Amino acid sequence: MSTPQAQPATPHFANYINGEWVTSSKTFESRNPANTNEVVAVYSKGSAADVEKAAAAAAAALPGWASTPGPGRGAILFKTADILEKKFDQIAAEMTREEGKTLPEAKGELQRAINIFRYFGGEGSRMDGVMVPSERARVHVFAVRKPIGVVGLITPWNFPVAIPAWKMAPALIAGNTIIVKPASVAPLCAWRIVEALHEAGAPKGVVNFVAGSGGEIGAALVNAKPVKAISFTGSNDVGHWIHQEASKRRLRIQLEMGGKNPTIVLGDADLKMAVENVVNAAFFSTGQKCTATSRAIVEDSIYDKFVEATVERTKKLKVGDGMQPGVEIGPCVDEGQMNTVLKYIEIGRKESGEPKCGGRRLTENGLDKGYFVEPTVFADVKPEHTIAREEIFGPVLAIIRAKDFEDAMKIANDTPYGLSSSIQTSNLSKMFDYVYRAEAGLLTINLPSAGVEYQLPFGGTKDSSFGPKEQGPAALDFYSDYKTVYIKY
Ligand code: NAD
Repeated sequence: MSTPQAQPATPHFANYINGEWVTSSKTFESRNPANTNEVVAVYSKGSAADVEKAAAAAAAALPGWASTPGPGRGAILFKTADILEKKFDQIAAEMTREEGKTLPEAKGELQRAINIFRYFGGEGSRMDGVMVPSERARVHVFAVRKPIGVVGLITPWNFPVAIPAWKMAPALIAGNTIIVKPASVAPLCAWRIVEALHEAGAPKGVVNFVAGSGGEIGAALVNAKPVKAISFTGSNDVGHWIHQEASKRRLRIQLEMGGKNPTIVLGDADLKMAVENVVNAAFFSTGQKCTATSRAIVEDSIYDKFVEATVERTKKLKVGDGMQPGVEIGPCVDEGQMNTVLKYIEIGRKESGEPKCGGRRLTENGLDKGYFVEPTVFADVKPEHTIAREEIFGPVLAIIRAKDFEDAMKIANDTPYGLSSSIQTSNLSKMFDYVYRAEAGLLTINLPSAGVEYQLPFGGTKDSSFGPKEQGPAALDFYSDYKTVYIKY
């Protein structure tokens, strides 16, 4: 007879304020979206009062951190990267269990976060300023970067390690102190970064972490007196609210929000490559990338072949628990997100007709314990249909027919959003035409619309974004200000 195994206790993750792990009597849990019987972690639920304490600690730590030489700040970021690397397999698995993306996707994202810490660690020794000749004799002029102060960082669940990393690393290297508020469905990776920074020797108060309700913590961050800037990534509704509230205090803000990203496929494209790129961009990470393609705008001459090949390829995608080898598409992150996706599929059925493939929740072979939706392709979608206009944030692709390149450009740009956009073509002239006319902040050509690199500016235009770009050298423009100096000698 086998002896009953003791269940390991679910780990509890505290908030981090002024260099201390602070537990709260109120808690919340995260569950594995591939198997909702599994509680992944329990978190202390932070409050507005915790934000106040974190803001005071961050303000107190600011002078010391801001006056630490850049290379010294960089050394802590390098060490953080090393610590994350040592825990690579553990953190990647935690990401898959908490957010649902496949293990290879989680590893790719974690590697990117590590690269980001190393990139900005190096910025500590490079931090540029401006030095130009004065127009006056015996006058020396220059401008140096200085930090903004205490910065609030509010992050979404879909890139639970990369987005916190691409906000935290530049904020810290520029000499700011920070308060991080992660999304409640997947806070663990951001917590791991904070743990790594703690182990790497970040002085107390420089890094603070408060998890909890978006409404409460978000409002407290926007209203906390010491906070001078907010960087937010998430939905348009919350972004617009932050914009309004933060304007009252004239906070510096950076908002990265939703998208309705197009991929144009022209008749001269390599069909096989175009199909691979669109399927990758539409369905990988369960369509939950902000840069995912949700509209394929296909030139008439290649339309039928493209639809047929895309449906054929989509049907072969393996959906399941992202921890299993060979699985390509994981679950939606939670029940709310799954229901939103299913709601849009029903709207699509009514407006655009039966999908060419997919279109339902998957419940067979144990998938009923998770939030799985079949990768779904709608064809003959009209540009005015709801599924061609509103962000779905799930594995749903709308294929739209375009008469020619001009018509495709018009349809692609006819959206209030402007995050990413892609074209598949072998015509060099049309590539350049597209580059100068596409209304989006991130363009790809003969590549998926999703999949960006950390050493370049990142962000959208139009309603997708507000404020300076993130990542690459551009990131420092948000997290620092110039101090200009004139010296007569
Ligand atoms: P969300 O807006 O619901 O939440 C984002 C963060 O804001 C979370 O931490 C949440 O707790 C917090 N929040 C919620 N209410 C708040 C409030 N009133 N004040 C302050 N903070 C509050 O978004 P989500 O569901 O986590 O993420 C999905 C959305 O994010 C999609 O629209 C997607 O397009 C967008 N996104 C954009 C980018 C980009 O770079 N443009 C990247 C990733 C995700």
